Amino acid sequence: MEDKFDTLSKFITNMTILVGRAQKESEIIADGKTLLESLVSDIRWLPHEFSCYKFKSYSQHLIYLDPNERFSIVCFVWGAGQETSVHNHTVWGLVGVIKGEELCDEFEIIDGFPIYTGRSHKMTAGQVEAVSPTIGDWHRVSNPTNDISISIRVYGANIGTIVRKQIDNNQSIEEFISGYSSERLFIF
Ligand code: FE
Repeated sequence: MEDKFDTLSKFITNMTILVGRAQKESEIIADGKTLLESLVSDIRWLPHEFSCYKFKSYSQHLIYLDPNERFSIVCFVWGAGQETSVHNHTVWGLVGVIKGEELCDEFEIIDGFPIYTGRSHKMTAGQVEAVSPTIGDWHRVSNPTNDISISIRVYGANIGTIVRKQIDNNQSIEEFISGYSSERLFIF
């Protein structure tokens, strides 16, 4: 049987090759989706500590950062009902649910402000989707289940350091930097 640590290291190798050769964002999204679908099809490689929910809000843990910061791999852990703000990303991103479900509320920019489209969709374990400024970059994500949900995300930058935008409590757009929930970088 394949060593469980090989699963992630192969994914990192393949993503590194992909971002090195791809000429266009659409190539990264298309081929990266296939790679991430494979990664989230089996949870056995993911350290058990990610499944032990301990945070008051959803949490985001850096699993791997490309040395040139061309991409980052982040594990999101959601408690029941937890949700993000309405936010954007500014770079391409791939979201793959590996445990439970995520609910995504879709927003679009109208007259400079993100407006709910009326469309929401649920992602279940094994599904992957993409965001980016060219294909739709604003959304709100939540865990609609009564249990922990986990997703693995890949972003086209060191996402925890990027200046992004979100809607604040006063319904205004503000800048934010997400950071990461754990100080330790999870290298396998
Ligand atoms: Fe997001």
